Amino acid sequence: MTALAIANAAYVAAALLFIMSLAGLSKHETGRTGIRYGIAGMTIAMSATIWLTFSGEWNESTSTGFVLLLVALGAGAVIGLWRAKVVAMTGMPELIALFHSFVGLTAVLVGWNGALHSGDLSPDLVGVHRAEVFIGIFIGAVTFTGSIVAYLKLSAKMSSKPLILPGRNLLNLSALIGFVGLTVAYVITPEMGFLIAVTILALALGWHLVASIGGGDMPVVVSMLNSYSGWAAAATGFLLSNDLLIVTGALVGSSGAYLSYIMCRAMNRSFISVIFGGYGIEAPTESDEETGEHTEIDAAQVAEMLSAAKSVVITPGYGMAVAQAQYPVAELAKRLKEKGVEVRFGIHPVAGRLPGHMNVLLAEAKVPYDIVLEMDEINDDLAGTNVVLVIGANDTVNPAATENPGSPIAGMPVLRVWEAENVIVFKRSMASGYAGVANPLFYKPNAKMLFGDAKDKVGDILKAL
Ligand code: NDP
Repeated sequence: MTALAIANAAYVAAALLFIMSLAGLSKHETGRTGIRYGIAGMTIAMSATIWLTFSGEWNESTSTGFVLLLVALGAGAVIGLWRAKVVAMTGMPELIALFHSFVGLTAVLVGWNGALHSGDLSPDLVGVHRAEVFIGIFIGAVTFTGSIVAYLKLSAKMSSKPLILPGRNLLNLSALIGFVGLTVAYVITPEMGFLIAVTILALALGWHLVASIGGGDMPVVVSMLNSYSGWAAAATGFLLSNDLLIVTGALVGSSGAYLSYIMCRAMNRSFISVIFGGYGIEAPTESDEETGEHTEIDAAQVAEMLSAAKSVVITPGYGMAVAQAQYPVAELAKRLKEKGVEVRFGIHPVAGRLPGHMNVLLAEAKVPYDIVLEMDEINDDLAGTNVVLVIGANDTVNPAATENPGSPIAGMPVLRVWEAENVIVFKRSMASGYAGVANPLFYKPNAKMLFGDAKDKVGDILKAL
């Protein structure tokens, strides 16, 4: 059996493990097993690739290559382990966006390498190779700058408001037409100038596409960039003639695209509009000023209200993750249940900063899965609920989404917490949420504000109970 045949057999095994990993990750109960399959698949894939690369005859150049590879692997592993260890759960989306940017950059570098060292290709394949180079560089560069903008927006180093340039849809369309034109030109005459031009064009397009998306739509952008990074990896696979990279890239690309589609549906957004950098979305007309008086409440009064309640719904958001309040929140739910109160959780599909963020935190605090309901499962029950505890959530419970057509989050389905008898909002100030939109919920007559860190306040309620 040749070395290539053995490596290909290992690649098939790795690809199967990746598919099993994705299947495992689709449910809480099987998530850990899914991760293990993924690790096993990646170990096989990397070992087979390294072995295949160096299975030829040993000479000076391969041994130098081997040392370089070990250094790169070592440095990557140390940085990766360190970042993964120190990153707070709330910083995960930024880290993921940064990882996507590396995949994009790799595709650009591999594309350039493919252009500069095309090797001996048969005349029939030269055109295909040049087109592959261009597609790889284009997807890679869009992913690279798009992910960097996503990183900057998610880490609040850049405003989450959409950049609305005049004629932005025309700009995006011109960039796409420019890409097709440059590809055709490069296939006919492989000029270095075309290569430089397509790289700059794609870098600018990636930046503009993500900068034009508003804060509320960022979850879709993150999963979309995940998808782009998959296609970038697949393009790299074609250039390097590596089947596993093509299969894995396609898996990441299609699962990311499907996740983006699911999230768009959950948020009532057009998939096409988000892909094309907010195509068809009008500039928001809402002003940030909010009128009205809010009412405050203290922890002892909330404890009293909860003791008298028959049904309580807890809707957590990003603030629960920041405060790491999931443990006292789980304890509160347990205590109320023991007192005979019906307690359930209502989870918005984009609560927090990651798909499934709240579910992960609640699972960590051992909240039973059967009382954790999706937004659609709980929304109709909110009107018959005595008390809703909004713990560090803001955009996901904002009535402006349904009541104000000029709002940047208009049309996004939200948890209709204001329909309950009483709503208690846990937060530290009157500040707006991630989308930067004022929240009229705080001024509703049945809403009371409990100011302070969510973990401390839930702790105070537990003491008072
Ligand atoms: P928001 O970001 O809208 O609001 C979080 C609230 O938590 C803030 O208003 C903040 O108010 C409060 N808060 C912060 N720290 C604390 C603390 N220590 N104690 C108490 N409260 C605190 O959160 P939501 O979960 O409602 O909405 C998620 C938003 O993030 C949506 O706009 C969504 O589109 C976006 N997003 C979601 C992603 C996902 O995949 N889920 C990815 C990217 C973006 P204050 O400062 O006054 O305390």
